Amino acid sequence: MLSDEEQTINLGSATVDALQLKELEEKNMHADVLRLDKIHPVISGNKWFKLKYYLEEAKKNNSKQILTSGGAYSNHIVAAACAAKSIGIKSTGIIRGEQPARLSHTLVHAKNYGMQLEFISRDDYRKRNEKSFNDMLSERFAGALIIPEGGAGAHGIKGSAEISGLFNSDAYSHILCAVGTGTMFAGLSSTSRVNQKTIGICVLKGMHTAYGELIGKNKGYHEINHDYHFGGYAKKTDGLIRFMNAFYEQTNVPTDFVYTAKLFYAAIELIKKNHFPASSRLLLIHSGGLQGNASLKPGTLIF
Ligand SMILES: *Cc1c(COP(=O)(O)O)cnc(C)c1O
Repeated sequence: MLSDEEQTINLGSATVDALQLKELEEKNMHADVLRLDKIHPVISGNKWFKLKYYLEEAKKNNSKQILTSGGAYSNHIVAAACAAKSIGIKSTGIIRGEQPARLSHTLVHAKNYGMQLEFISRDDYRKRNEKSFNDMLSERFAGALIIPEGGAGAHGIKGSAEISGLFNSDAYSHILCAVGTGTMFAGLSSTSRVNQKTIGICVLKGMHTAYGELIGKNKGYHEINHDYHFGGYAKKTDGLIRFMNAFYEQTNVPTDFVYTAKLFYAAIELIKKNHFPASSRLLLIHSGGLQGNASLKPGTLIF
């Protein structure tokens, strides 16, 4: 187990705040937002929850380090680097693509947390889930605990289920979150109440058949929506950026263009389209990730 002191890197002050939006008023509906982005500026949002049981295992096994993978703008990579440092364990990040002349903000951050960066070609990266690749890593990084990309996997789901402990689940008819690997969604929906629906907004394109196993049984209570990816992972439109600024003006809630902007945009569209029955009470999970906005041109956002 992680000691209390080690655990204090987390759960600073996630709050549940009511959203004030004219779309909600018009439909006489209520929506709250769970501000996981307030937990920690770097290991923000769901990443801490997805990592915690992997870190616990690394401690328990006396692992020499953790090893994980991701792209140059991965929230997971920087969160893993920060979390590893906070418990005094080394970390290595296997980064997709050749080493760029200039590191992204995310990778500079990760490096500053002591993460060793190993760049591999996109072709090799595609093999990361194959056994031979994992065998190679286990050999090269003997004694390392390998954490799947994005903290996906059983430990990630178990940790994400604990997000439900931060709000009064009985108060909501619908829980909405952004979906990347689907790990957070799987954790949240595993704790959902009878008559409560967990809705995931997929931020990647062409993933219609990707989550079958994760969703599994109980389909009536879960649903993944594929209509709001805005062209694919980390893709954005001018309209999405305008939405982020307008949403901030109205609610004071900052969002990121990769995940949570798509979630909030989708939620408002679904409200307008009467997707939710009268007197629904929604909880929207703000899963953090704001540092991803650092890749935007300065001045793009008003926050
Ligand atoms: C990583 C991330 C997600 C996606 O979580 P999954 O468990 O991979 O679906 C959602 N929101 C933010 C802000 C993230 O950083």
